Amino acid sequence: MENENKPYNPKEIEHKIYQIWEKSGYFNPDNLPLKKGTKPYCIIMPPPNANGSLHVGHAVFVTLEDIMTRYNRMRGKAALWLPGADHAGILTQVVYERELNKQGKTRFDLGREEFYRQTYDFSINNKKAMEDQLKKLGASCDWSREKFTLDPKISQIVIETFKKMYDEGLIYRGERIINWCPRCQTALSDLEVIHQPRKAKLYYIKYPIVNSGDFIIVATTRPETMLGDTAVAVNPKDERYTEFLKNNIQIKLPLIDRIIPLIADKNVEASFGTGAVKITPAHDPADFEIAQRHKLPAINVIGQDGKMTELAGSAYAGLKIPDCRQKVLDDLSALNLLEKEEDYEQNVAICERCKAVIEPLISKQWFVKIKPLAEKAIEAVKNGQIKFIPARFAKIYFHWLKNIKDWCISRQLWWGHRLPVYYCQDQNCQETIVSLQKPTKCLKCANTNLEQDPDTLDTWFSSGQWPFTTLMTNQPNDFKRFYPISVMETGWDILFFWVARMIMLGIYRTGKVPFKYVFLHGLVRDKDRQKMSKSKGNVIDPLAVVTDHGADALRMSLVFGTGAGNDIVVSEDKVIAQKRFANKIWNASKFVLNAIGDTDYTNLHPDDTDKKFTKEDKWILKELQKSTKKITQDIEKYRFHEAAQEAYHFFWHKFCDKTIEDVKIRIQNNSKDADEGKLALWTVLYNSLKLLHPFMPFVTEAIYQKLPSRPKELLMIEEWPE
Ligand SMILES: [Zn+2]
Ligand SMILES: [Zn+2]
Repeated sequence: MENENKPYNPKEIEHKIYQIWEKSGYFNPDNLPLKKGTKPYCIIMPPPNANGSLHVGHAVFVTLEDIMTRYNRMRGKAALWLPGADHAGILTQVVYERELNKQGKTRFDLGREEFYRQTYDFSINNKKAMEDQLKKLGASCDWSREKFTLDPKISQIVIETFKKMYDEGLIYRGERIINWCPRCQTALSDLEVIHQPRKAKLYYIKYPIVNSGDFIIVATTRPETMLGDTAVAVNPKDERYTEFLKNNIQIKLPLIDRIIPLIADKNVEASFGTGAVKITPAHDPADFEIAQRHKLPAINVIGQDGKMTELAGSAYAGLKIPDCRQKVLDDLSALNLLEKEEDYEQNVAICERCKAVIEPLISKQWFVKIKPLAEKAIEAVKNGQIKFIPARFAKIYFHWLKNIKDWCISRQLWWGHRLPVYYCQDQNCQETIVSLQKPTKCLKCANTNLEQDPDTLDTWFSSGQWPFTTLMTNQPNDFKRFYPISVMETGWDILFFWVARMIMLGIYRTGKVPFKYVFLHGLVRDKDRQKMSKSKGNVIDPLAVVTDHGADALRMSLVFGTGAGNDIVVSEDKVIAQKRFANKIWNASKFVLNAIGDTDYTNLHPDDTDKKFTKEDKWILKELQKSTKKITQDIEKYRFHEAAQEAYHFFWHKFCDKTIEDVKIRIQNNSKDADEGKLALWTVLYNSLKLLHPFMPFVTEAIYQKLPSRPKELLMIEEWPE
């Protein structure tokens, strides 16, 4: 090899190598030189959101999925890694609205159609940048099969699923209390809401008992919601209130003077405040449930705009929540009905995307009746059709699915799949029609004035169908050939968001589980085991690392030392250590190739030559066999970290430190066994390149391309050593 002392320079090499791979067409399994009866192997990429750059979490999945794909391709399988991008409903809409805000505009200035068009262009541009980033990481995915969640053919299937579920009674429209983000102006699923501890006040308010000078005192952190109270509740076992309950007392709600009952419900915690709680069905999920049990009315006193409604009474209507709270407190004080206030630590629900405080509100939304789907999804894991790696996640999965509530799938967003629902505008009819195309007239009254539901589907409703939508809309045979896919690899943090939904919707639509294995990786942490965040300034930009140290070094450092499901610790030191390893491979290979010169060893196998190997040669050949076996088993068992570590130690500490040093001296001394040494060098290097390739594809392929003779045109399609 040329340039004797030049260190390995990934910047110079990686780009060229990727081009060679791409040009070869072998990312596409249809172009692979497959033997008859070869098995398919398929991974569907978790589609990154098409609204920003890749972060280090993406680099983790790229590394792991590329290892699996490259390994199985070398095992002679029809390996398909199908890439894609997600439109990421609410997140992208929030990101693009921020862009608009910078120009002093809102989405309403643009109107729905124009907003959608611009967000689409924005996403497609981001998608292109993202593809380049995936390539820089070495992703050997089949770009000819790439998909986007809003591709028309994919949207068609997603909408068909909605209609099928509606027709079968698994989707319904209902009035529910939902998590409302007043900023995003949309409903959020429970998973899109995060809880933050905050300091608050607990106010004790006196509620007068009708025809008595007595009071019941209730404690609340949200006095403004009392305007919507429809009862006061106590625990039936709370003896402080037994007498009141027996006497069926009535309560006069202060400020509004509504007469409300005192009820007993087992869900009331006697230890909270005075043991008596106000019930506001329209603005508290727990109260909503209690109200349903007791058939209490719900009164909406807070609107979707975060202001008090007419029903809050003329003194309060139109006020913003904080202003209303203050006025209610002032008015109660004036009436001498405010007993006391206490400091209180509270968990506040906030919007995961924009961090605004969530308002629980009652509204009309679309829901998936989830129990029937969840039961089958539980069964599929119980009977072993789907296996979790690590296995401990199955328990969490079961627990979640057993306690699952109906899934609110409508979002008040413009960006996403619009609901295939039309409403007859005739006020006497108001028929709801679910249809794949806009109907020309109402099926009930023949009215032609129909309006489509303005809502879009929760983004996870479409990504939950990703394993089959991507395959059904690709090559004609792909679904039959690759479904169920081999492995779903993703972060454990989206086990419920995504994995559980894919299992439920996959079984529902195809009658089959979508994948056989679920491999869950952990979260990336810095060297002090801190979560990475922009505010902490400890974020590692994977593309910057690739530029500085090469993709191989980054990939290896993400795998090294981390088993499935565990936190992945990354630091620059760790990356630099792997960069040194890449350089070690490069230099060792340079030495070997210089030593063997032009000799073609490709047909020489150490087992069937008349060569007299030294004890040292026999030792390294034996070690090679042992390592090959261990690495293969580790990859098969999804222990990628063990496989990577084994390959690293074998190459560096056995091959480089011992064998190369030994043969170097034999060559220098012109020993009679120098030739045997060269054959040993070749054999170990050639096989090591294969063993290291899934982990460090660039440097290994670059060296392979410099071998004096090569059995295959590319290392990526070499046969995995036995
Ligand atoms: Zn929000
Ligand atoms: Zn009608």
